[in-house]
Amino acid sequence: MSGKRYITVILPLKIGWTPYYEIPADEKVCQGLWVRVNFANKEYSGIIHETDVTPGTETSKIKTVISVERQVAPVGHNEIRLWEMVSEYYLCTIGEVFKAAYPAMKISRQEALARMQEKDRERKRKNLDRLYLKARKTSERIEQKKKKLSETENSSKKREKLAAELKSGIADLEMELASIMKNISEEENPGGIYVEYDTFQTVRGISLTPGQNEVFEAALEAFKGMKPVLINGVTGSGKTEIYLELARRTMSEGRNVLYLVPEIAVSRQLKDRLQSVFGSRLMTFHSEETAASKRNTAEKIRTGASGGNRYIILGTRSALFLPYENLGLIIVDEEHDSSYKQDSPAPRYNGRDVAVMLARLHQCNIVLGSATPSLESIFNCSCGKYRMLTLRSRYYGADEAEVEIIDTASERRKNGMYGLFSLKLIEHMKAVLDCGEQILVFRSRRAFSPVLQCPGCGTIIRCPHCNVSLSYHKNPERMVCHHCGFTTTFNPACPKCGTMLQGLGSGTQKIEEEIRKLFPEARVSRLDSDTAKSSVPDIIRKFNRKETDILIGTQIITKSFDFPALSLAAAVSADSLLGIQDFRADEKALQILEQLRGRCGRRDRKGLFVIQTNQPDHPVYRKFAEGDATDLYGSLMAERREFGYPPYTRLINISVKDPDVGRCEAAATALSGILKSMLAEPSGENDIEPVSDPFSPPVDRIAGDHIRIIRVTLRKDKELLSRKKAIAGGIDGFIRKSRFKGQIILDVDPE
Ligand code: ADP
Ligand code: ZN
Repeated sequence: MSGKRYITVILPLKIGWTPYYEIPADEKVCQGLWVRVNFANKEYSGIIHETDVTPGTETSKIKTVISVERQVAPVGHNEIRLWEMVSEYYLCTIGEVFKAAYPAMKISRQEALARMQEKDRERKRKNLDRLYLKARKTSERIEQKKKKLSETENSSKKREKLAAELKSGIADLEMELASIMKNISEEENPGGIYVEYDTFQTVRGISLTPGQNEVFEAALEAFKGMKPVLINGVTGSGKTEIYLELARRTMSEGRNVLYLVPEIAVSRQLKDRLQSVFGSRLMTFHSEETAASKRNTAEKIRTGASGGNRYIILGTRSALFLPYENLGLIIVDEEHDSSYKQDSPAPRYNGRDVAVMLARLHQCNIVLGSATPSLESIFNCSCGKYRMLTLRSRYYGADEAEVEIIDTASERRKNGMYGLFSLKLIEHMKAVLDCGEQILVFRSRRAFSPVLQCPGCGTIIRCPHCNVSLSYHKNPERMVCHHCGFTTTFNPACPKCGTMLQGLGSGTQKIEEEIRKLFPEARVSRLDSDTAKSSVPDIIRKFNRKETDILIGTQIITKSFDFPALSLAAAVSADSLLGIQDFRADEKALQILEQLRGRCGRRDRKGLFVIQTNQPDHPVYRKFAEGDATDLYGSLMAERREFGYPPYTRLINISVKDPDVGRCEAAATALSGILKSMLAEPSGENDIEPVSDPFSPPVDRIAGDHIRIIRVTLRKDKELLSRKKAIAGGIDGFIRKSRFKGQIILDVDPE
């Protein structure tokens, strides 16, 4: 037995135990090296986790590695450390994290490709230089005008006409700049972070306002104590400018920057802005990119690290797993956004929270920002873990948009409704269109109608695989399940009695149809998850350039877009935000409302935000219209505390899934019992039961699987980690003993 050497290997699989392999006596190995191994009769690429271990299993069964892949750069120690942290926190296997970090699994050699690309680069570089020069000139003209504008505004005799002219001049130039930047961003950036690019001139400088500068300085101060910073600033207050300045400074000190956004569609405008400051030092990384492009970026980061060049990565949560070295700053933009949470597959992580882990690992600075911070982050500020910095005024000085709540029930009684729109809202819309300004119309549901019902016999058309109704879509006409994606042709006759089906409720498509009827002259477009991914940037760009007048959409349109000529936002059937049975519902509703309000009147105009509702007295609307955010957060926080919800506790949702309802329920009941006996003590200050009985989620059958949920509520104390481990162990034990063949899915910090 002596002389044999063993290692553990991370494989891209969900295996709850550690696979050991033997390594030939003469191979020198270390953590992070890629190896080829056999596992369950298949060949895999894996990563050496630990070397020189003493196997906990029968050594005669241990296989020898097939090969050690020395031609591939090994995975860094910090990368593996992050995988360990994520798998420990989110109760998944390290292999699942590895798979998320290296999804392509291909060990490819880039050299040949790189050489081929070099020629092409030369040509593109010249083109880019020309565009940047043009952009720089335009940008200088903007700066001159802005300077003049502030002189005008500060002078004793107010010259409003001149100011207005200057403002419109600035807006035009910014539009022009945006179009140049668009051309730049469409030019593939050839240089990346290579040395010759270090001398590259960027387009514009950053000059913070005194208020912004105060926050900037305070952030630097907090960084000294290694504290994460939360910038709580109204939309348009210049949070992004501060991020840019922090990033610029970090890079000038020779360290790299990661700029995280919840979704890439939103980052479209941001990319142009970042490019205008950082030129070709900017790289993007998100799930829509090709595998080759991702690998390329990862490679640049790895080699850039050794070459000492600075870069800034703009990316979504998957960018957290890049092979960083020398990371100096992480920015988490729109930190409240639930798109940071990965639903499926494991690891079901929250990008914001993993960003904090990554920062700790690299001993680097981290700044979170939002106009509507999550209660979690506010809580972390109040207990001193994070430092909160607040920005109250908008850069362009405009006041917050006014809020008008329209009671649709009462309007309907007064014949004041025209379909889904109140005459009051229609009047506002007309006025806005007449001035050549723009409108955003929000509806939380896509499709035409969410439900099809037979008026004759009451039959509702349901998904054959899920316990949910099919939605009716137009253009092309079809019925779609929004849970499993099942799609079928539309047959207007009831399958039971033949009566013509009726659509109930209204989604974005119906709103679009009504708007087109109401305003036949207006240029209208729609943005929701039915929109083809490839056309999203185009729709946003057109609206930004005022080539469309009205944009209708779901949550996506509430995100951080900056539309200069937008002066009216409307939530037509806002109540769908409230009907959700979830402890986060009010917080989310408020965030959406606040984000919508923030979209309008970003420049000199004062905007209007209209909420149409059947429940005008609902506390969410009342408090929102009164506009006292601190008060509101205070009461939400008090509620969370009283009922033992996060951030006062930590939740784990355990979903039990099985195609057979009896098996599903039996397993859930048995598992809940086991966990209850394991976590007997109450976990909250107010005797919250740590383990719930199994319950059915709102949609209790998806894609053929019945679903039951067990909710675990844990106190945030020293025992937390060991309790989490105990739960994971309890579940493993249950699966082994009961031979349950369905799925058990753990979701730590569910959204
Ligand atoms: P936020 O990120 O808080 O929503 P932004 O950074 O997008 O705010 O700023 C809103 C608008 O004001 C943008 O058009 C931005 O260019 C402009 N702006 C903000 N601060 C400055 C500044 N210090 N100098 C020049 N423009 C600024
Ligand atoms: Zn379905």
